[in-house]
Amino acid sequence: MPKIIIANWKMAPPSLQEAKKLFGETAKIKNLNDTEIVVAAPFIYLELLINLSKKSKIKLAAQDVLWENPPVGGGAYTGEISPNMLKNLGVEYVIIGHSERRQNLKETDEMINKKIIASVKAGLKVILCVGEPKRNSIKQAKNYIKKQLEKDLKGIPNNYKLKTNQLIIAYEPVWAISTNKNAKPDTPENALQMTKFIKNFLKPKTYNLKPKVIYGGSVSSKNIEGFLRHEEIEGALVGGASLTSDFVKIIKIAQKYS
Ligand code: PEP
Repeated sequence: MPKIIIANWKMAPPSLQEAKKLFGETAKIKNLNDTEIVVAAPFIYLELLINLSKKSKIKLAAQDVLWENPPVGGGAYTGEISPNMLKNLGVEYVIIGHSERRQNLKETDEMINKKIIASVKAGLKVILCVGEPKRNSIKQAKNYIKKQLEKDLKGIPNNYKLKTNQLIIAYEPVWAISTNKNAKPDTPENALQMTKFIKNFLKPKTYNLKPKVIYGGSVSSKNIEGFLRHEEIEGALVGGASLTSDFVKIIKIAQKYS
């Protein structure tokens, strides 16, 4: 099965010039096979990168979105971006529920649920991030993820129909994200267990849509192989390393498993 590698640039790089250069490094990669590459860039770079992406096979994602799709003349949400704005610009994916937004910007499961619904309605593909803040035991982690999925996907897809491939779950244990203190990647064995758990949990709820489940948390070219060699782990969400030359190496490894 083809793997998907998603770069999460977070709030970087600091200039459009640098964004262009960084994107160019990835766009140069030849023979992508079926490996899907997505770059989640800051809003203000998306238009330029969409134009550049036309010459490559790279797709664009936003890192967040609001839960409203106001009609023309509506939109009393100063500073926010709607799902329709992203869709009309040519953005294909949107990351929703990243742990940094949950923690630092106090985003709740209810807000995340509304964002997913509005994005699905607008025809965007959703990358939903879930992950436990601490790993005491796998059992506790599973419980935590189950609750997050129940709340974040409430009413979906029963009331809001999803298309095939419209939902990706990024399992990102918060403690494994590289910017957190003492972060280290999860073991591929535990990530695999969690991936299988998420898939089994979602199976009856999402009918046969089979959302892809990917891993995120301190992924680098040194450890990605351990995750991707498991068929069930269908890709990776890459933060820090996506801003460095390591990202090209990561993609080349993913090509071997696609
Ligand atoms: C992320 O922020 O989604 C992430 C996985 O970051 P990192 O790869 O730096 O741990």
